[in-house]
Amino acid sequence: MPDEKLLDSLRAFHGHLGPFAMLGYRAGLLAVRELDAPTHFGVHAKVTCPPQPPPSCFVDGVQFSTGCTYGKRNIEMEASDEVALTLSVRDSGAELTVVPRREVIDQFGRWMEEADDETAALRVLEMSDEELFEPRAHSS
Ligand SMILES: [Zn+2]
Repeated sequence: MPDEKLLDSLRAFHGHLGPFAMLGYRAGLLAVRELDAPTHFGVHAKVTCPPQPPPSCFVDGVQFSTGCTYGKRNIEMEASDEVALTLSVRDSGAELTVVPRREVIDQFGRWMEEADDETAALRVLEMSDEELFEPRAHSS
């Protein structure tokens, strides 16, 4: 069963549920967990992605799960064909880059056509980190 409270909160924050927002949420969650990073403060997110929706919806998912926000100036977005998140912890300097698998993103268009954005988002939510993301390398 999906976590309805999570879905409602993400929907309220972003305005709808889609696969890219959910993917950003998952990427941020993974980075925070692996780095044992704080959220909102003392942490910085750098996102690369195509600079228009739907792929840029990824940024909102990252903001939602990391607490890095545009207003606090601790998230930045760089236009790129590659979707990726690099999260860094200010105190320790620890840093982690999370890269979604291209073959997953390539399926989003079909998933949204077959059903709808929300169904595609739920598919992303149900997938494992290993299915969603490339193997990760720590650096600090
Ligand atoms: Zn969106």
